[in-house]
Amino acid sequence: MKNYYSILGVSPDSTKAEIKAAYRKLARKYHPDVNPDGAKTFKEISEAYETLSDEKKKLQYDTINGFFSTKTETKTSSKKADEEYKKSSPQSEPIKKHDFSKKINEIFEEFGKKNKPKPLRGEDIFEEISISMQEAANGTTRIINVLHSTECTHCKGRKFINGAICPKCNGTGEKSEHRKISVKIPKNIKNGAKLRLHSEGQCGKNGGKNGDLYIKIKIQPNSNMKFDGNNIIYNVPITPFEAVLGANISIPSFNGNINLKIPAKTKSGQKFRLTGQGIQKFSDLIVIVHIEIPSSLSDDEIKLYEKLRKLSSQNIRENLLNEQS
Ligand SMILES: [Zn+2]
Repeated sequence: MKNYYSILGVSPDSTKAEIKAAYRKLARKYHPDVNPDGAKTFKEISEAYETLSDEKKKLQYDTINGFFSTKTETKTSSKKADEEYKKSSPQSEPIKKHDFSKKINEIFEEFGKKNKPKPLRGEDIFEEISISMQEAANGTTRIINVLHSTECTHCKGRKFINGAICPKCNGTGEKSEHRKISVKIPKNIKNGAKLRLHSEGQCGKNGGKNGDLYIKIKIQPNSNMKFDGNNIIYNVPITPFEAVLGANISIPSFNGNINLKIPAKTKSGQKFRLTGQGIQKFSDLIVIVHIEIPSSLSDDEIKLYEKLRKLSSQNIRENLLNEQS
C-alpha cells in the first residue's frame, strides 16, 4: 500500500485546503520542469493528491486502508473498519474488480500492524496557592502562571504542515507555554482543600482528553487568628485602662469591623464569643483579650501610673499561695 498521507506529509484529519496546500508546495518542488530528478516523486504526489482531493476516492482509500480521522473516530478496530468497508463497497464502482481484491489482500496484511496510535489522556498538573485567612473566609480570585503543554497552533497537533515537519514544534505536535489561569477560590475554603480545574492540565495526545489542573489551597497562618473547626480564635490586645474601665472596642474582622463591648474589670485571657461571626453562619468568632501596654507612653501617662501606684491599696499577690483563685 502506498501511504498517500505520508507522501503528501499530511494526516487523515487534515482539511481539504491543507491537503491542497501540501500538494502545491511539493508539486512546485518536484515538477519535472523545474527538477529533472523529480519525475518519480512528482508522479507519486500527483497520484496521492488525485485520491485525497476527491471526497469519494478519499473515503474509499481511507476505508480500504484503515485510515480514520481522529476527529470523528476515537477507537479503531479492524472489525469496525470491516463493517464500514462492507457498507461502502456497493458504491465503489470506480475501482476495478481485480484492483479491489488486490486491495483486500493488502488490508489483511496491513491490519493488526497498522493500527492508529491510541488516544492518550494528558497528565494532570498540581499547583499550590497560598492565601491569607481573610481570603480563605471571604473567597478570592488568583491568577496563576501554569507551565503546560498545548496543541501546536501552527500545525494543529498534526506534526506536519504543508508536507514538511512543523517548524514551530519540530514535529512534536505540541508546545510548552506558560498560561495565565484565573482561579476562583470559593469562600470558607479549608486549609489543604483541592480545587480541580477540568481540562487545564497537559494536552492529550492522538485525540486524547486533556489532563486536569489540581490546586491545593494553603492558608497562611496568622499570629493573631487560628481556625478551630469552623470557629475562629482571635487574640485581641486591650489597654490596661480599657480592662479596668471597660470599653467599646472596634476590631477588624473578615466581615468588616466588629464592635465588642468590654465590661469593666476585664481580665487578661478573658474570652468573648461572637455567635455567627465565624467561618460560617453557624460558627463563632471567639475573641480572647490580652492586656498590653502601649509601646509609646507619654510622660503624663507615666505620671498617672505613678499616681496609681501611690493610690493602690490592695496587695494583688497576697493570696498567691492560697487555694482560692
Ligand atoms: Zn506544530
